[in-house]
Amino acid sequence: MNLGLGHKVVAITGGSAGIGKAVAMAFAEEGCLVSVCGRNQERLAALSVEFRKNGYPLCTVTADVSEQKDLERFAEATVQQHGRIDIWINNAGAIEPAPFEMLTFEQWDKVVKTNLKAVYFGSAIAAKHMRISGGGVIINTSSFTSLVPTAGKALYSATKAAVNSLTQTLAIELASDKIRVVGVIPGYVHTEFTAANIAKNRDMLVSSIGLNRLSEPSDLIGAYLFLASDVVAGYISGISLPVTGAKLCTQNPLWSWQKK
Ligand code: NDP
Repeated sequence: MNLGLGHKVVAITGGSAGIGKAVAMAFAEEGCLVSVCGRNQERLAALSVEFRKNGYPLCTVTADVSEQKDLERFAEATVQQHGRIDIWINNAGAIEPAPFEMLTFEQWDKVVKTNLKAVYFGSAIAAKHMRISGGGVIINTSSFTSLVPTAGKALYSATKAAVNSLTQTLAIELASDKIRVVGVIPGYVHTEFTAANIAKNRDMLVSSIGLNRLSEPSDLIGAYLFLASDVVAGYISGISLPVTGAKLCTQNPLWSWQKK
């Protein structure tokens, strides 16, 4: 089925690694014009080389989403290079795992600015550009911790729950501008973000997942493409889609594997 994504302009924050990188490549394969930002310039340069090898154009911007002027610069560079913004993905995230009383003011600011403030203002910036071109789709990367919070990650969980709430409200505020707002809720994905914890706690992490494995960034791609497509998801807005491998669907998620 043709998802109708060809020639759409897709801007992805945190698109140089992990989920964002996999999603960036997938949109390029669909014929989209992709733009990504991240803080590390070398990583962006390496991604540009990868895209070029495959014959895909890529706009890269060194930017920290916790800075409003960087978000604006990212959007403006995307429009300058690709002409407009059709799909904006608020994907960059930060975590500071610690018992809640141990978190410093500085750590709190970093997590809230990256996970919540950047989604709020990033969406506003994207909406401004989408209104000019007649509509679009905003996709927020949430987390399973938004549904069932994780002890030791209280603030991270709270910011992701707030992201789900923003997805609902912004879907309504932007509906008459023909902008859909949706979210993706990853479960536990093997990326740099999680590599250290996976190395230490793989069995414990897998024990909550019905499909009996952690996910790879490639497992998330379908959800982003589906939600971005007006052809198949044109009537979907204001929801966040869990892609969690049946994580904690029941109190005994591995039941079907254990009875074999
Ligand atoms: P990775 O660490 O693999 O990649 C993060 C990407 O975001 C990199 O491109 C990084 O580049 C960029 N980034 C990080 N901070 C900033 C910033 N302040 N400004 C701009 N870019 C930034 O992470 P994941 O792919 O695992 O995570 C992506 C999203 O998915 C996050 O929002 C995370 O909360 C969410 N998520 C992840 C899960 C998982 O299990 N991995 C589970 C649930 C949700 P650079 O460092 O160069 O800036």
